[in-house]
Amino acid sequence: MSDSLHSLQRTLCIIKPDAVKKKVQGGIIQKILDAGFNIRGMKMIRLDESAARKFYEVHKERPFYGELVSFMTSGPVVVIALEKENAVADYRKLIGATDPAEAEEGTIRKIFADSKSENAVHGSDSEENGKIETGFFFTDKELI
Ligand code: GDP
Repeated sequence: MSDSLHSLQRTLCIIKPDAVKKKVQGGIIQKILDAGFNIRGMKMIRLDESAARKFYEVHKERPFYGELVSFMTSGPVVVIALEKENAVADYRKLIGATDPAEAEEGTIRKIFADSKSENAVHGSDSEENGKIETGFFFTDKELI
């Protein structure tokens, strides 16, 4: 295997309920594609409470856990399995800081998000979580 294949990574994007409600899914996906990511899997789903609680389990001790779960189940989301070299770090850079007020110009959250809680997109925070989170929503067979 060549070095470039070794550095191919997967990361999970979720277009959150606020962005789906605003009908900006298309703009977000175009920015992701323009940045060189390949889409390996994509679907629109509605998270139920138990799935949202499980997905965000790492945050269960945080004071906003309940609000986060209720926001993420408030409407449909689009889950997208992305692949690219250095995908995890490059996608985090593309989406910008958690709080859109602190996000750099041109980032997805700066352009499409309204607040720190309703911030348009999710992105995996490590290579390991990129694999785990992609596997949370997609079977191997669903990834093209
Ligand atoms: P991320 O990795 O940039 O998404 O940020 P975190 O891992 O810190 O937080 C996960 C998600 O929880 C964020 O993307 C927000 O949707 C939400 N969140 C973060 N901080 C707050 C907060 O203070 N209040 C609420 N309600 N939600 C928050």
